[in-house]
Amino acid sequence: MRKILLVIVAGFCSLLVLGQNVETGIEVVKYLASDKLEGRFPGTKGDDYSIKFIAKKFDTYNISSFEPNYVHSLELLTSIKSGEATYATLNDKKLEFGKEYVPMAFSASVEYKGELIFVDSVNSKEKVNNKWVLVKINNGNSKELNYRDLIDLSISFANEGAAGVVFVAMQNFENGKELVPFKYSRSVSTIGIPVIQISREILLGILNANGYKGNDLEDSFDFLSKSNGLLNLSSSVEIDTIMSTTANIAGFVESEKSEQWIVIGAHYDHLGYGGSGSGSRAPKIQEIHNGADDNASGVGLVVMLAEYYSKNNPEANIAFVLFGAEEEGLIGSKHFVENLPIDKEKIKMMINFDMVGRLRDAGVSIMGATTAEEFDSVLNIYQSEKLPLRIGGGGYSGSDQASFYSEKIPVLFFSTGMHGDYHKPSDDVDKINFDGMLQIAELLVKITNEFAKDDLQLTYKEAPVQQSGGHGSKMKVKLGIMPDMTSRDNNGLGVDGVTPGGVADVSGIQKGDRIIELNGKKVSGIYEYMHIMSEFNPNDKIPAKLIRDKKQIEIIIEF
Ligand SMILES: [Zn+2]
Repeated sequence: MRKILLVIVAGFCSLLVLGQNVETGIEVVKYLASDKLEGRFPGTKGDDYSIKFIAKKFDTYNISSFEPNYVHSLELLTSIKSGEATYATLNDKKLEFGKEYVPMAFSASVEYKGELIFVDSVNSKEKVNNKWVLVKINNGNSKELNYRDLIDLSISFANEGAAGVVFVAMQNFENGKELVPFKYSRSVSTIGIPVIQISREILLGILNANGYKGNDLEDSFDFLSKSNGLLNLSSSVEIDTIMSTTANIAGFVESEKSEQWIVIGAHYDHLGYGGSGSGSRAPKIQEIHNGADDNASGVGLVVMLAEYYSKNNPEANIAFVLFGAEEEGLIGSKHFVENLPIDKEKIKMMINFDMVGRLRDAGVSIMGATTAEEFDSVLNIYQSEKLPLRIGGGGYSGSDQASFYSEKIPVLFFSTGMHGDYHKPSDDVDKINFDGMLQIAELLVKITNEFAKDDLQLTYKEAPVQQSGGHGSKMKVKLGIMPDMTSRDNNGLGVDGVTPGGVADVSGIQKGDRIIELNGKKVSGIYEYMHIMSEFNPNDKIPAKLIRDKKQIEIIIEF
């Protein structure tokens, strides 16, 4: 009986606290996840609509702003185009871009002239040193070749000493095209050598002009293997980057009681129309990815809390930040922490929401509990049967709180977890549990009020390292860094963060370093890094070269 009474009272109270705000949450999620916003890809019209909509909400609640109209603009790479210097001449034939040849998006921007030789595998007897290698792709029969395989194959040839790689596809790709389109996709970095594709027709034509009598390209490789110095390729690849503008939207409510800050955030961007390389889990479909759960739901929650605290003065200052370009590699949150509008020392903690719209019986997951001494015991007070808390560690787990944790700020990351619609066009608003969002919002008010108290100070803690290779990777060891996934600078892999106590940390790698060589092999970006890392085993000791403060240093990494 008493229990029933308590439930009724609790239910009644929650109505008093936030009940009316759920309408706000519903409105935000419905708008952001509507087709009008076309999946909120950074730099698009839908992205801009999101920014204006959120800013308008903040304005309605009279939230204070750091920047005019709450908008903190930032630039990001969203596309590439082929530069004027790009050309390819095979023997004396100048090839037509797009039809007869096309550079791969991950190619280095460089010119090279030299012999083109056919090789049938990476470890062939052929001397590939300083030569272009011609590699046939059998994408039709045996194994479906994907982009990643082409990158790996190219890196393998680069490691053998090849100066460049030329692919020729023996069958058309699934989309009916023979040449993989020249296009930028999420986190397309570059490798150290030029890589292009040429058409079957042009290759056969040039072989015919140089003594090959047949008309079957497959048969010609035998002829090609036996003839030295038959093909010569001069090619330059110049890939220009196209930047777009997006923004973080940030506002704050000042406390009358404290100097300290709590940052509450969520990303508002999503995958646009998806497609291959976009991060979509249905990459063959070009369709609006509405991202209702990911992460219109998180935005809904932040806006609900902003509305609430605009009417209920908090015990600490609260900044409400909606991040852009999270899906492209935490770009918005990285920009925010690099250009903090508030004193970093005064930021007590950061709370992030990513996918909070699918509350199920299992409750809500709270990651990052190991990033401050006090988190665990405080959070456990709020355990309830109605809303179980799955409290876990890890400050770096894949969303915007990682950018704050790498600045040594304690973080909590709330999520209702993965589901089958994740990163698919079917992540729609009709599957959102708005009552669940309200429950989480109410929990958050309680938690935030508790952590906002000046007499509860938080002690930053280095979260324990999770020893695993990360999802889908072939790595047997883990370095424990947050790599810069997005740079196309081609001058090493940037280290955006180092997991405390991890291999990198212990070996002396620091945030801001660039890894340029591992075990004697060049690292120009994320692809070569991943390729090389897959070769190492636990207990291996390898030399590494880094750039730190413009100086080259050498260290030994022990896995
Ligand atoms: Zn997300």
